[in-house]
Amino acid sequence: MRRTEKIGCLLLAGCLILTGCGSNASPAEMAGTGVAAVTESENGIDSLTPANDFYGYINAAEIMDMDLKDNQQIISTFGLISEETSEQVEGIIRDIVDSGEEYELGSNEQMIRELYNLTYQAVEDKSVFEESDTEFVESIINRIESVENKEDLVNMWHDLAKDYGLQTFISGSATSNIFDTSENVIFFSLSPLADFSEIKESDIKAVSYRDGFDTYLNLAGVSIDDAKERANNIIYLYYDLAGSADPAILSGDKEYFEMFNIYTREECEEHLLNLTYEELLYSIGYDGELPDKVAIPDPGLLWEIDSLVTDDHIREWKDIALISFLDNQSSLLPGEYTQTGIDGFTPDEMAVTVVTKYMDAMISDIYADIYFSDEDKEIITRMCNDMVDEYRVLINNADWLSDDGKDYLTEKLDNMTFFIGCGEKREVNPEEGRLFKDTLLQTLYSFTAYTQQKIFDTLFEENTYNGFDYMSPITVNACYVSDANSIVITAAIINERLFDPDADYAWNLGAIGSILGHEISHAFDSDGVLFDAYGNYSPDAMPESDIEAFIEKQEIAIEYYSSFTVLGSHVDGKLTLGENFADISGLQCVLAIAGDLDSQKIVFESYAHVWSSLTSDTYAKGLLETDPHSPDCVRVNAVVACFDEYYEIYDVKEGDPMYVEPDRRVRRW
Ligand SMILES: [Zn+2]
Repeated sequence: MRRTEKIGCLLLAGCLILTGCGSNASPAEMAGTGVAAVTESENGIDSLTPANDFYGYINAAEIMDMDLKDNQQIISTFGLISEETSEQVEGIIRDIVDSGEEYELGSNEQMIRELYNLTYQAVEDKSVFEESDTEFVESIINRIESVENKEDLVNMWHDLAKDYGLQTFISGSATSNIFDTSENVIFFSLSPLADFSEIKESDIKAVSYRDGFDTYLNLAGVSIDDAKERANNIIYLYYDLAGSADPAILSGDKEYFEMFNIYTREECEEHLLNLTYEELLYSIGYDGELPDKVAIPDPGLLWEIDSLVTDDHIREWKDIALISFLDNQSSLLPGEYTQTGIDGFTPDEMAVTVVTKYMDAMISDIYADIYFSDEDKEIITRMCNDMVDEYRVLINNADWLSDDGKDYLTEKLDNMTFFIGCGEKREVNPEEGRLFKDTLLQTLYSFTAYTQQKIFDTLFEENTYNGFDYMSPITVNACYVSDANSIVITAAIINERLFDPDADYAWNLGAIGSILGHEISHAFDSDGVLFDAYGNYSPDAMPESDIEAFIEKQEIAIEYYSSFTVLGSHVDGKLTLGENFADISGLQCVLAIAGDLDSQKIVFESYAHVWSSLTSDTYAKGLLETDPHSPDCVRVNAVVACFDEYYEIYDVKEGDPMYVEPDRRVRRW
């Protein structure tokens, strides 16, 4: 099942987000370790050594050959892999479109080709669809306009959600219950077309929303004067709602798990004045068996919305639905209903973009068939097993952890699941093949409605988690999913720049292995330990004394990283804390697996090369303030300098620029 609600926060919390650091100045500045003098000397990059700048020593020659084009801000290993993956995906789509073969209804190829052709047609000559789509749009506007009272309103909300996947104000989806991940619950959210915090704080913003709304109402056929007045009334309604909203949620300060408030049916019924519990669920398109509980991120706001679902406010709710509909696929609507066209794209470019977005599962299957082999999977699986074994040793050897703390973390490790490359292949599904309608617009609504209902259908099913619903096999990334206690490593990131089945195992450990080790470490960081071995949110499960001991370690890491500078600015040791520990932890793990110094040398070098990148100065400075990862050069130099093996292998001594005193070297374990 798909659990889109959560992707946002988990991506931020647990992923290797693809960034870089450095500058197009000298390599020494790129290295950011304050050894600018080295490259300003006569020897240039030849003077870079493992002892004065390990990052530069490994990467400078390559970086000097990189060239940022036009508005390009960064060239990095991950960016290059992404470009390659996009080309491969485009190739797959074009091969299918051009093949001339007959494909079975509901097969990957049939669906890809049909969607490509529909999109191509829509961009090349939208007028072909004009008549059918005009009828379609009118029917929806009429459906909304037919509403006269609260009961009609609930039915209209339901029909739009059920038939077109359009949840025009209150929205919701089935997702795993973070307190008991074996089951699913409906998690409510809102799609209000406006940011309540902006409306609350700024009259100018409120006016600009109002002006946007009246434009849409005018497109729906409302006279300009009426549209203005009606848009104003929506804003008044939003003022009320904004006043009831939780400020911490509005400002984005609450994590997903802090918003997971479970309410039983009885509790909901106590708060709901106008809608019944059944109507609340029905309004988001759900009409199955009534669940005995739901999850509500901002209960105060939901009760306030309910209090305003009265006959007095029917006009506002109808107008919100109209605006929401006209806003949703605005570029595909017939000319009289939209101000946006599909400009700036060729039919082929747009067709590839739309197919990539909507046919992810189908493309992923074909991609994995071509680019991800059983042999790759076997080697990576072995590596994951080695890492689990090694983390077990690291945890058990951590003298700062209590026995209970060790048991808790070891249980997490033993139950961790790994999603490697790609999932089970999709089967030919004629039902999905029949989702196509006469026009692109209607087809996209048909897909959305189908997907939404499929998710609702899982509500009472046992929660079978699939990591690739979180992160597609064609995304160049890896992540730890805390509420599933799972690692996802996609087929696309298992690329020759990071993984070579014919290379020395140590080389792979330093590259893809260090990324895996980084992600596994997120299971044990300050957010990760809030979730138990089964992904259940259990904030008190880790012994308090262990959390305090970990906080002490954090202080050392913050101080250490803050001493690094890039382009004259200090790294923010607090902002990057979690990711820094993950980097150090990941490398510590793979170094231990590699074993001897010769293999560890290979690990250090392939690890350093993962982070080879060139970034524009402006971009690099911006990242320093916002990116929870350290700059690439620091991800190498700060990390390797924490390991005794590095000093031994490269004969680095006190007085060398890379030298860090033993008591300042950060270790997670
Ligand atoms: Zn991370």
